[in-house]
Amino acid sequence: LPSIFHKAANIISIIEEHHYEAYFVGGCVRDYIIGRPIHDVDIASSAFPSEIQAIFPKVIPVGIEHGTVIVRYEQESFEVTTYRTEGTYTDHRRPDEVHFVRDIKEDLKRRDFTMNAIAMDANGKVLDPFGGREDIAGRRIQTVGDAADRFKEDALRIIRALRFSSQLGFSIEVNTKEAMKSCRALIDKLAVERLTVELEKLCAGAYFSKAVEYIFELELYHHLPIFKDTPLLLKEIEPVASLAPVFAFVELNSESITAADCTKAYKCSNQLKQQAHALVDAYHRYKENGIDAWFVYQLPRKQWDFFIYLVKQTDKKIIDIEVFYSIRKKLPILSKKELCVNGYDLMKWFPERPKGKWIKQQLDAIEYQIVTSKLANEKSKIKDWIQWNLPVQD
Ligand code: ATP
Ligand code: MG
Repeated sequence: LPSIFHKAANIISIIEEHHYEAYFVGGCVRDYIIGRPIHDVDIASSAFPSEIQAIFPKVIPVGIEHGTVIVRYEQESFEVTTYRTEGTYTDHRRPDEVHFVRDIKEDLKRRDFTMNAIAMDANGKVLDPFGGREDIAGRRIQTVGDAADRFKEDALRIIRALRFSSQLGFSIEVNTKEAMKSCRALIDKLAVERLTVELEKLCAGAYFSKAVEYIFELELYHHLPIFKDTPLLLKEIEPVASLAPVFAFVELNSESITAADCTKAYKCSNQLKQQAHALVDAYHRYKENGIDAWFVYQLPRKQWDFFIYLVKQTDKKIIDIEVFYSIRKKLPILSKKELCVNGYDLMKWFPERPKGKWIKQQLDAIEYQIVTSKLANEKSKIKDWIQWNLPVQD
């Protein structure tokens, strides 16, 4: 087994020594069989949360009512979830009730797709009651059990089918596909935060265009906030690892939808909202002044790729990231903290001025002067400059 499983295999062995079962389940088993990189390892166990707590000295009860705990083991965290069945999702958010069970088959049966319903023990032996491996070999996405029933239980699975086809390039099996179409109106009832999590992964998938074809074939865009008003934009989006550039792209390429409309519709975090806004802003400044020292200074490194993406998508123009690096190399400072003066210096130099917003204004002005190489980052030079620049007091 790949090394990511090794430590977790110890957890499984320890649980087994206490006469319970435990298996690797879900995405890690699927990705291992496919041969994709595995990002996190989930463990399912017949032991109840209280029983897991009795086995390991350090257990964090993160979602104990749903059977999930985190086991701390040799400075690492492992999610262990008790085998369970789920009721229906009346509020379309969480199952009404979960029942802990002792049979792994019951647990696999409640999972969404056959490829996600495979269990593997610590030695790599596989339990696959729904033909998941066969579907993986055939590159097919197929629900466990009757597709329409499963989508009525939880319509998020419709979006998850799209997301997996975008990530894996798999096709959707015909019955599953037809049920996605007939159940599609149920998507409107989902808690939008659940949709957002899947949308982000959907947009990042290497086979996003394949998922977009399904979105049109099955007329699912009617049920995607924002895109229902501008469906054709979906066809122009290329895969990208965050929704911030996607929503910035929507603002720049639609008549009246703003990035703020998008982040609101999808209830995104403030951080994502600010990032999308910053990208739109950067794009407009770029159109006005090009990429200069001030521009590079203001755009955080982690936004560079998204900005380049945005320009490529919007203007069909490729910006070489080297442009950013070579400008940044020459920047006199990389952040305000590197200014060799601060507010206290200013107050000391001008004791007659009461504390006020002039201090921040002057620091901002100094920052701009230094970044654009109009002023050296030296105390005496800055003091001279500021004496000339300060407005006369009235
Ligand atoms: P990823 O690699 O993106 O984490 P994943 O398959 O692990 O993919 P998760 O959302 O982490 O996806 O879910 C873990 C597992 O839980 C899935 O593999 C699936 O077995 C099950 N699962 C998750 N969401 C649902 C759902 N809405 N309905 C049924 N089963 C689900
Ligand atoms: Mg997962």
